[in-house]
Amino acid sequence: SDDHATTVFEQRESNVRLYCHAFPAVFTRAKGSTLFDTQGKRYLDFFAGAGALNYGHNPEPIKRKIIQYLEGDGIVHALDAYTAAKRDFLTQFEKTVLIPRGLEHKVQFCGPTGTNAVEAALKLARKVTKRTGLFAFTGAYHGMTLGSSAVTSSRGVRAAAGIPLGHTTFIPYPEGPKGAFDSLAFMERMLDDSCSGVDVPAAVIVESVQMDGGIYVASAEWLRGLRKLTEKYGILLICDDIQAGCGRSGQFFSFERAGIVPDLVTLSKSIGGYGFPMSLLLMKPELDQWRPGEHTGTFRGNQVAFVAATAALDYWAQEDFTHALAAKSQLLGELSREAAPGLEVRGLGMAYGIDLTDHGGYERGKRVQQHCFQRGLILELCGREDTVIKLLPPLTTSVDELREGTAILAGALREA
Ligand code: PMP
Repeated sequence: SDDHATTVFEQRESNVRLYCHAFPAVFTRAKGSTLFDTQGKRYLDFFAGAGALNYGHNPEPIKRKIIQYLEGDGIVHALDAYTAAKRDFLTQFEKTVLIPRGLEHKVQFCGPTGTNAVEAALKLARKVTKRTGLFAFTGAYHGMTLGSSAVTSSRGVRAAAGIPLGHTTFIPYPEGPKGAFDSLAFMERMLDDSCSGVDVPAAVIVESVQMDGGIYVASAEWLRGLRKLTEKYGILLICDDIQAGCGRSGQFFSFERAGIVPDLVTLSKSIGGYGFPMSLLLMKPELDQWRPGEHTGTFRGNQVAFVAATAALDYWAQEDFTHALAAKSQLLGELSREAAPGLEVRGLGMAYGIDLTDHGGYERGKRVQQHCFQRGLILELCGREDTVIKLLPPLTTSVDELREGTAILAGALREA
């Protein structure tokens, strides 16, 4: 029974888990935007693996390619060898992502997960600039390994590292729970003043939309200002598009709306297409100063993930998909606002946040989440104190499902 299963988890799984407590069910199957538990109950999934499932669960076109590949005994693990699967991914990535956007970046396959790409970006920035310091932003989330933790803003996460992480100056994000802040003027002032106490950093790492930080959207104008400022001082600009990328913002990259070209871009989560682990660092060609062996790893690029990722990029070559995404993005914004009268609703694309900070806070957020779960909708909380309801449905969610999910949420907000 589910009771027995959840007891097994309680007794044997480490305390490190968090969000599963909100969903006391044992899930078995999933299709599209829907999950099923052992009792056969259906749930809409508006969390989508924290952005790892932009194409939904088990999308047919990708699934077929994976099955075909495995049935043909395609190579699954090849370390760094050239393979047809890797070649096909690079070719497709160039054709559907880089070339249409005028980008010339080289691709580095990092370890399996997002934080691996962040580590590579930080290390490369230091190597290239021969500086050690970094600028990051309040509210930022970049991962849990030591380098990434050093640019992640949460005191709890940083304390868990157990050692001084150092060398990062946190700048207030332009948008945040305490209102707007002129972070560009602040940075400029710190960089201009030889006695500011702050060294010129190797890089600035930024999420153009803070996702875990509470769905805060930096304006296009601000992003352009940040690009200008980093160019002026010879600082590399790293855009962490691990969660906001791969279409979540409505366009493939979240910084596209500003027309800027970052020096380094990190991608993970939905780049694997099917929920497979994969992470990439994109770098301007002149930055590829790695010597062979300086930054490698056994699981840099799983071949089945390449097959899935290549098939996923096919979506981006289809006008139907991009048109539907634009229409559904607009609809999700409208539906989120309708569901939450009187509350601040922020977001863009298929990422929306409903802010409960001054309207019941975390406790109410938890109650809303429970109501939703009981009525068949999975969603997570985000933000500094987990006071923001996060809506992150797969990009392929149907209009009917968007209506159904936001109607459940509207009811939960009324009741809780
Ligand atoms: N950067 C951002 C923006 C993220 O949202 C995340 C994951 N939430 C990471 C980095 C770290 O990715 P991973 O959990 O796969 O290591």
